[in-house]
Amino acid sequence: MCTLCHLKEHATAASASGASGLWSARRAFVLAAAASAASTALAQVDVGKPSGLRKLVPAEQLEGAADQQYKQLMAQAQAKQAYVPASHPQVVRLRNIANRIIPHAAPWNERAKNWRWEVNLISSKQINAFCMPGGKIAYYTGILDQLKLSDDETAMIMGHEMAHALREHARERLAKSSATSIGLSIGAQLLGLGQLGDVAANLGTQLLSLKFSREDESEADLVGLDLAARAGFQPNASVTLWQKMSAASGNNGTSFLSTHPSGPERIATLQANVPKVQRLYEAARKG
Ligand SMILES: [Zn+2]
Repeated sequence: MCTLCHLKEHATAASASGASGLWSARRAFVLAAAASAASTALAQVDVGKPSGLRKLVPAEQLEGAADQQYKQLMAQAQAKQAYVPASHPQVVRLRNIANRIIPHAAPWNERAKNWRWEVNLISSKQINAFCMPGGKIAYYTGILDQLKLSDDETAMIMGHEMAHALREHARERLAKSSATSIGLSIGAQLLGLGQLGDVAANLGTQLLSLKFSREDESEADLVGLDLAARAGFQPNASVTLWQKMSAASGNNGTSFLSTHPSGPERIATLQANVPKVQRLYEAARKG
């Protein structure tokens, strides 16, 4: 994941409350099904085909492992009083933003129609957010508060993180690592030669230390921009978001920036792509 390598230590160190409230995405699922039937428009951004290598890792098992890992992280947050309850305005805000973007996810990945999307907020100064395979999203309060993000900018991060999951970047990374000696035993287990419980535990652990490539990051920027524009979020917010990230790079708690360097190149690429999705945004606003 984007910054999951930092998440584990953080989730353990953080403090929080609340229990129930993992988001049941039944409503989102209905919306997604309706939208994917209606939305046949081609992507406005050019990101090419997903890597065929990812098929070495079964999507069902990866999503199952992510689900377990996510549940554990949320349970840790609850135990540390760092789990922000569903009634909190920031959680309501995040879930509203997700509800607008999710209907546009399925054209990027058919499996997303059946994902049980969840969105949760963890109390922490860390600048961090992620979406695990299968649609398990988490934000840290630090990214909202320290960067003073508008709804449009928050949606750009969400689109970016969702894009990592939809384009199966974690699956691709794991498949590539399974071609190495480190991953071979896991690969064998995935092929049915090992214990299912071990497979999930191994994958979950690997998810925590994944780092995406620069290409994955660029792709997530563009797919996220497309998703957010279709949901009616202002495309130029992708530029202001990364400008804010860039300005925050000297602050504490910038684990997100260690995996998401915000240089002039990143911002220039987004600027060049904003006009491509402007019409999608305007159509969504009219709609
Ligand atoms: Zn990323």
